[in-house]
Amino acid sequence: MYNVAQVTEEKCVAKKGCRLCIMYCPEANCLDLNSEKMIAEVVINRCKGCELCKVVCDAAKHEAIAMVAVSSDGSLMEKAGEAAALGQAYQG
Ligand code: SF4
Ligand code: SF4
Repeated sequence: MYNVAQVTEEKCVAKKGCRLCIMYCPEANCLDLNSEKMIAEVVINRCKGCELCKVVCDAAKHEAIAMVAVSSDGSLMEKAGEAAALGQAYQG
């Protein structure tokens, strides 16, 4: 089990021009703007769970990103940052 970032649509203020998480994500083609919905969107199978996006989003007081556990079959588990330990999750 490991963690990936997930954006909460209702909290994301990308439509107001925020791109913080997108700028800070160190992984190529992992976190990008969904220009239809105008929210930031994480490509689950590219996310390394580093939490940088969550840190910058929280620092800006948007708190739109949660770390979500992924089970061994690749499905997302319940949204709960507490579900898996912080800082683990480097899956290559
Ligand atoms: S930093 Fe937060 S509010 Fe800003 S685009 Fe990313 S998820 Fe949305
Ligand atoms: S947790 Fe790290 S790799 Fe995953 S989307 Fe956020 S910044 Fe990118």
